[in-house]
Amino acid sequence: MNQELPHDADVVVIGTGAFGLSVTAHLARLGVRRVVALDRFKIASQTSPRAAGLFKLVQADELRTRLARLAVDTVRNFDVEFGVPVPFVHSGSLMLARTDRHSRLIEEEVGAAQRWGVEVELISAQEASRLAPYLEPEEIRQAAYVPGDIYIEEPASLLEAYYTAAVRLGATVVGDVPVIGIQVQNGAIRAVETPLGQIRTETVVDAAGAWVRQVSQLAGVDIAVLPMRHQLAITHPIPGIEATYPITRVFDAAVYVRPCRNGLMWGGFESDPLPLDPANREHDFCIELVPLEFRVLERCAELVRRVIPSLLDAAVQEHRGGLFTMTPDGRFIAGPVPKVRGLWVLSGCNGSGFSFSPALGRLLAEWIVGGAPSIDLGPLAPGRFVGAIDPGVLVERAIFQYTHYYEPLES
Ligand SMILES: Cc1cc2nc3c(=O)[nH]c(=O)nc-3n(C[C@H](O)[C@H](O)[C@H](O)COP(=O)(O)OP(=O)(O)OC[C@H]3O[C@@H](n4cnc5c(N)ncnc54)[C@H](O)[C@@H]3O)c2cc1C
Repeated sequence: MNQELPHDADVVVIGTGAFGLSVTAHLARLGVRRVVALDRFKIASQTSPRAAGLFKLVQADELRTRLARLAVDTVRNFDVEFGVPVPFVHSGSLMLARTDRHSRLIEEEVGAAQRWGVEVELISAQEASRLAPYLEPEEIRQAAYVPGDIYIEEPASLLEAYYTAAVRLGATVVGDVPVIGIQVQNGAIRAVETPLGQIRTETVVDAAGAWVRQVSQLAGVDIAVLPMRHQLAITHPIPGIEATYPITRVFDAAVYVRPCRNGLMWGGFESDPLPLDPANREHDFCIELVPLEFRVLERCAELVRRVIPSLLDAAVQEHRGGLFTMTPDGRFIAGPVPKVRGLWVLSGCNGSGFSFSPALGRLLAEWIVGGAPSIDLGPLAPGRFVGAIDPGVLVERAIFQYTHYYEPLES
């Protein structure tokens, strides 16, 4: 920590994960001169680089559909807008079901997504297996194909692109400097405190991932977020796997698979997930210390063994995990916090923060700079929970949302 921090900033962003770096780059691009992003650990080192890198155009409601489209467009045009390329794979994706209930769910999602302008079609099991030859068609009852979906092979590459863009545009991004205090006077942000001193500012974005609640509490605000573990595995190369084969989501098993490093990556949503709040851990807790359990992934592979047999036998080269920030209603938290002027939150990823970060970072920056985002983010307002949620109810609803990732219903 031998770096000098600026004494003043127009905006201080707390956290340099996908959310924090995206909003930093977009603020700088909109002309905010003094943006400072701080991280308590190395820059972009916590949950975001551990993501699967999947983007998904078919979403549960129209707002998220618009955001998902904006996110994909922002990645595709990043080079044009920021002069920094983001490598992505235009793979398309498949939704699969092996039960009647999940077949109906896919049909409903396809119908709604088409009404909201997404290109998606129901296809036969044979066609699904032709598009993704790692699939066995026999058990598939319903399949749908989304040609526009993409993935980012190594998630760190998007974070590097945000970082490079932000710094080139004049932002200051500093790792290993925790924010330890937020000064509020007469209901408005005045400064953030760090071990290296204070930065005076009137605008703070809390994008602290699994620590988001602790950070907002420094300003006397409680945000209803519960961190929850999620894991994935990557196999060694499997002969015949091509990077452009589609991503597959098996709805009834809540398992996803995509090509990765000439093999396959898979992850899934267990029915008994592990909430893990850094607030209850030792002070130096970091994402590397999230306990991983391979048997969760073995169970996922077992659930899909007849449709993706190659997962069961393949040797694994990487097993990684991190923390989702779950909210009671499964929606992001993005916007200004009521009662503390100048405090903004970007969190509540519910498992999709990596892929929505290009859109949400952009819209939050527009909102901070111009007074309104170009897509109304009202339904994601932090104020919908502040002070209103009982801890037991938060745990129950957050677990519900995690276990219904592919069946997003109101709890
Ligand atoms: C295994 C796995 C697979 C996933 N797959 C996908 C996927 O395919 N698609 C998708 O969209 N999403 C996916 N996700 C979710 C995605 O990774 C998250 O939504 C996203 O990374 C959240 O970004 P973040 O910026 O909120 O958090 P983080 O990346 O954790 O960043 C928060 C940062 O805040 C910093 N911080 C905390 N407290 C302070 C403080 N006091 N002062 C300064 N800094 C602080 C932290 O050190 C950290 O670097 C996956 C997640 C996991 C774990």
